[in-house]
Amino acid sequence: MMEQYIEIKAANPDSLLFYRMGDFYELFFEDAVEASRALGITLTKRGQHLGHDIPMCGVPVHAADDYLQKLIARGFRVAVCEQVEDPAEAKKRGSKSVVRRDVVRLVTPGTLTEEKLLSPSETNYLMALARIRGGSTPLLALAWIDISTGIFRLAETDEGRLLADILRIEPRELIVPDTLFHDPELKPAFDVLGRVVVPQPGVLFDSATAENRLARYFGVGTLDGFGSFSRAEIAAAAAAVAYVEKTQISERPALGLPERQSASSTLFIDPATRANLELVKTLSGDRNGSLLKAIDRTVTGGGARLLAERLMSPLTEPAAISARQDSIAFMLSESALCEQLHDALKRVPDMPRALSRLALDRGGPRDLGAILYGLASAREVGERLAGMLLPDELAAAVEDLAALPVSVGELLASMLADDLPLLKRDGGFLREGAIPELDEIRALRDQSRRVIAGLQLQYAEETGIKSLKIKHNNVLGYFIEVTAGNAGAMTEGEAAKARFIHRQTMASAMRFTTTELADLESRIANAAGQALTIELEAFDRMLAAVVAAAEPIKAAARALAIIDVAAGLATLAEEQGYCRPLVDDSRMFAIVAGRHPVVEQALRRQAASPFIANDCNLSPDGSDDTGAIWLLTGPNMGGKSTFLRQNALIAIMAQMGSFVPAGSAHIGIVDRLFSRVGASDDLARGRSTFMVEMVETAAILNQATDRSLVILDEIGRGTATFDGLSIAWAAVEHLHEANRCRSLFATHFHELTVLSEKLSRLSNVTMRVKEWDGDVIFLHEVGPGAADRSYGIQVARLAGLPASVVARARDVLTRLEDADRKNPASSLIDDLPLFQVAVRREEAPKSGPSKVEEALKTLDLDDMTPRQALDALYDLKKQL
Ligand code: ADP
Repeated sequence: MMEQYIEIKAANPDSLLFYRMGDFYELFFEDAVEASRALGITLTKRGQHLGHDIPMCGVPVHAADDYLQKLIARGFRVAVCEQVEDPAEAKKRGSKSVVRRDVVRLVTPGTLTEEKLLSPSETNYLMALARIRGGSTPLLALAWIDISTGIFRLAETDEGRLLADILRIEPRELIVPDTLFHDPELKPAFDVLGRVVVPQPGVLFDSATAENRLARYFGVGTLDGFGSFSRAEIAAAAAAVAYVEKTQISERPALGLPERQSASSTLFIDPATRANLELVKTLSGDRNGSLLKAIDRTVTGGGARLLAERLMSPLTEPAAISARQDSIAFMLSESALCEQLHDALKRVPDMPRALSRLALDRGGPRDLGAILYGLASAREVGERLAGMLLPDELAAAVEDLAALPVSVGELLASMLADDLPLLKRDGGFLREGAIPELDEIRALRDQSRRVIAGLQLQYAEETGIKSLKIKHNNVLGYFIEVTAGNAGAMTEGEAAKARFIHRQTMASAMRFTTTELADLESRIANAAGQALTIELEAFDRMLAAVVAAAEPIKAAARALAIIDVAAGLATLAEEQGYCRPLVDDSRMFAIVAGRHPVVEQALRRQAASPFIANDCNLSPDGSDDTGAIWLLTGPNMGGKSTFLRQNALIAIMAQMGSFVPAGSAHIGIVDRLFSRVGASDDLARGRSTFMVEMVETAAILNQATDRSLVILDEIGRGTATFDGLSIAWAAVEHLHEANRCRSLFATHFHELTVLSEKLSRLSNVTMRVKEWDGDVIFLHEVGPGAADRSYGIQVARLAGLPASVVARARDVLTRLEDADRKNPASSLIDDLPLFQVAVRREEAPKSGPSKVEEALKTLDLDDMTPRQALDALYDLKKQL
């Protein structure tokens, strides 16, 4: 047996091997050590190998899902190895023959189907990345599959947006060709993704055989009917399918046909922005506190997953956005109906996942039940909406619901019992009256049980032992049990001896049987066997009917999810007082009375003072169609970050097709959203806060287009004042002159506000505060103008800095302010030429460093006082 184990393990070196032995999966050697540690189960040993004890641990088969869940969560992969022949067969080959075993499935994070291993509200994608070298630029493509629901999508990407595209989809597992795994250009992205990335042999990604592999999987001669895909997309799709085949081995999940997503159809949100805005989880990794959590009013798993998907990939097509808004508007106008739908939807089980388990032959009676109840609710929902004048999206959904074949539901309803067991091998899932033959057998079985109860009375009377019991266990079947003290009556006398056959002696009891009892026993066992055979046949019939209707069932499940999302967003809009934003192809960004969706709800929950709504207007002003920049100043704790984030979130919500937390909103489609907010340290990767800030700022200044929305918070804070101010200054100029995008720029550097004199589309706004008795009161109101001071010292006082430190700080501040007054940074505005020229000048060929550059290099800015720095700057200028 160990030989067999070692051979199978050698073929699966990256996975823990669950080796089936009777009712347990056993693990040996290093696997046992790792698993026992990860699962907290006892490590034992069994036999020896090369003179050493073999470590072993095991998990019971019936509880395997729980253990698998823990192992997968800890990043393990598991190869499940089953006995693939009857032990009797093995015996026939010789008494020492080992039962044949094979790995029947690799359990990996991206290929899960079990209910226990999946979170109902999250998708579970396996993703493949392929790269094709063709022409001058390599082509990258991604394919992603959720085998628990059958979703299959493809998209092209490029190195610049690769990470953003991957994070948008949040795969649980990303397979990449091993040749790419160490590719220096892709490595940074893989580093961020960490354990999710799994290198696989290059053959899986071979583009020459890719088309054939896909065609074979879908049982078609050619892919022409699927739409047009690039070679890279086909290679990625084929790799994903190959991996599914590799992990599922004998089973074939029912995948939908691959659907293509074009890069320009979704709002590009770069990875840092996605994380910082806490769209689906907070920076600390919590789902609570995220935007998704705040806006999710769906009541089905499918609805929750669709909502998350929409939030992760907002649209860029006004018509598609407006179609989604129409659905919400409809639900709002029919609020009673919306409530009824909600009630009906609450009963919808997770049909796609049940379906996929059934298709993989991993399903049980409850999965059939899920389909039955799902179909019933689908009908109810469909009927409630039938005959109404519906917006397009809902009309299409209702059509899908109406297209459900009636026969499957009828078959299931006529067959399935009300209470369903988890496993089909337990039987008992067919309802009375479903199959007459089964009813007869069950009657016989029940009758036999009654006869046994009668026998117990009879034997007790005959022997005079009142406590005599007839019991049952799996080893002996039915037996008579009496206490040791009473056993005499059963064993003494010829008549008794002939009647009661001794089976077992226990410490305090003796067990017997009789021919009558043995006879009944075998009748019951036979009946149970026959009943199970009938039930399993019926199961297969129902399974076949469900799998044959997989497509319409999936379409219906999708329709229910769409209706759930529309109803959920309508409920949210109603409850939170959201408005329908106008989204079009303009460059407008006009939010009236906008609020932060998460903070607003949090304040309300805490019954704190209500959230103060604020306007934001970055719309083009006048003839040229270019968005504006707002430069926001104000004290710490004044609400700057909240204001910045709320506008980014409103843009995302608008483009995902939701209503938004505002009095009114007019948003011209944003193609890319960038934000640099909060100071998330990346020390684990050896980057300081400042470095992270600069990397993110660089990405923004390099990539933002005139359709983008840029949110920058406190650029330049992480370095010496003059460095920081200069970088912030230059960044604002670059945004205004080069990117020409709608931007919000919050800063501590009040010096920047003078830029509004030169930059025509830049306006100064500030968070209003009131000073009262030496303290500051934050009004959280955004108004025109610039903050004249930071109130840092007041905030420090509020935070409880010792009074002596606060007083001393006031002194120092007064001195510094005096010095600054004599030489304000605002004089820069008159002396510095505007940025635009610099953009081009940078590209001009250089003939070695100039005198000024040489001089600049020698300056040690961190060692200078502001005064010295300014003097140095004047010197440099003179040298030009
Ligand atoms: P800053 O970025 O200026 O330091 P924050 O945006 O972090 O300030 O806001 C500080 C606190 O003020 C937040 O925790 C929030 O609870 C509260 N706050 C911010 N904006 C508002 C608002 N518009 N209405 C009510 N409270 C707000």
